[in-house]
Amino acid sequence: MKEIARNFIAGRWVDGATGKTFDSINPATRETVATCTVSDARDVNAAVEAASTAFDGWRKTPAPRRAEVLFRLAEILRTRKEELARVLTMEMGKVLIEARGDVQEAIDMACYMAGEGRRMFGHTVPSELPNKFAMSVREPVGVVATITPWNFPIAVPSWKILPALVLGNTIAWKPSPETPFCGVKFVEAFAEAGLPAGVLNLVIGPGAELGEALGQHCDVRLVSFTGSTQTGRIVATEAAKTGKRCALEMGGKNAIIVLDDADLALAVDGIVWGAFGTSGQRCTAASRVIVHRAVREKLTALLVERVKRLKIGNGLDEATEIGPVINEAALKRMDGYVQLGVKEGARLVIGGEVHRKGDCARGFFYRPTLLEGVKPGMRVAQEEIFGPVCCLIEAESLEEATQINNNVPYGLVSSIFTRDVNRAFAAMRDLSSGIVYVNAGTTGSEVQLPFGGVRGTGNGAREAGQAALDTFSEWKTIYVDYSGRLQRAQIDTQ
Ligand code: NAD
Repeated sequence: MKEIARNFIAGRWVDGATGKTFDSINPATRETVATCTVSDARDVNAAVEAASTAFDGWRKTPAPRRAEVLFRLAEILRTRKEELARVLTMEMGKVLIEARGDVQEAIDMACYMAGEGRRMFGHTVPSELPNKFAMSVREPVGVVATITPWNFPIAVPSWKILPALVLGNTIAWKPSPETPFCGVKFVEAFAEAGLPAGVLNLVIGPGAELGEALGQHCDVRLVSFTGSTQTGRIVATEAAKTGKRCALEMGGKNAIIVLDDADLALAVDGIVWGAFGTSGQRCTAASRVIVHRAVREKLTALLVERVKRLKIGNGLDEATEIGPVINEAALKRMDGYVQLGVKEGARLVIGGEVHRKGDCARGFFYRPTLLEGVKPGMRVAQEEIFGPVCCLIEAESLEEATQINNNVPYGLVSSIFTRDVNRAFAAMRDLSSGIVYVNAGTTGSEVQLPFGGVRGTGNGAREAGQAALDTFSEWKTIYVDYSGRLQRAQIDTQ
């Protein structure tokens, strides 16, 4: 397959101003998936201008009409789910079953946010003065810049684009240069659903240059970013210079706690799915397992037994459980972390090497890896590895496990396996993260609940659920005085 990926600006597919191209590569085979246009700041300016021009018409389109585009989009995505999932697997690498889930998340989000078109509740509250009416309504923010990563190339953009659109915002979207063709396929579906020209614009090319141009543009009112904490901080700094709002979803160092009364078979299922699904390349990946001393040996043995049977290969093969990682640099990074862990005193239990056998010879494959004897302060226990590497840390009690869980720079997901309802509720209260799972692994968010994290993972904004409406709208408070005279709040109180 060899496709072309162009920008989509003001309703037209156009080449970037540089006239140059780059190849998007299949990480399982190194084959070219698409030849992609290289954009620069001129294209960002054109995209923002198109979004600014379209804003007034879109914001004045009644929200239920805006929502109809989202309902049609959901139908189109449903029809094309298999085609999109295959493109996603080819460009990003995740196994087909997960790629279908990535597309399904966008379908779910389209349905959920389309429902908001006939809800979008504000508040009507009593005024303290007679013959006066008081209410608050949601307004769009304006032009929204969305900057997205490669690991969920359709789901993550949908968390931003869909709430932003139903609320009446217009968008300039910069997808990751690792997955531009997924961006093209997603935007095609919006165009087919009847989204007016200029409401959603796509700009493809190098991250830093385009990202900074979006962050610096005076007509962008909100930057919605998902990616690493390091890049997120740059985005926030740029946004602050021109007083933009900024919503950040960043890295994670998530943990699964396994207590001595846990259902160990269930915990193993949760750990394998959380740590090795998407080859560990999820912000929600379980890269730490904090296990009670009494069950450490047994859990480790069960995990090794399972991990050694995981099938590595091209995600297009339905039997594959572990696909490739995104690129050569990622392979080097995770291998470096494993070596560092061993140097710091951890023991390599299984994995810990690049996998180049058979059909995997040309791709970027890393064997699922378990490190045991990891201490909470080691770098492998503190930093995001973003690959199929899981650190086993021992604890003696729920209190110690909670402390270890909380004492990292990130706070996205925590999970606990226990059959004791008292300890489960204490953990729900004390685990410091945006999301907590009880008796489930670290992955499995649903679109109708808020998604996001604390500390280095976020800056207080949330995606999905009702919380996303706050991220992508402004409140307008309206007072209507029908008394026919001057009434002074706080003064004319008698
Ligand atoms: P990244 O930070 O390298 O890139 C993210 C996006 O920012 C890309 O589109 C990239 O091109 C762009 N970018 C690069 N430099 C920029 C700059 N100077 N200014 C503006 N934009 C710039 O992250 P990645 O490797 O694409 O994704 C992996 C990271 O994303 C991991 O840390 C993961 O935890 C995180 N992530 C977080 C969530 C979440 O919801 N919290 C979800 C998915 C991924």
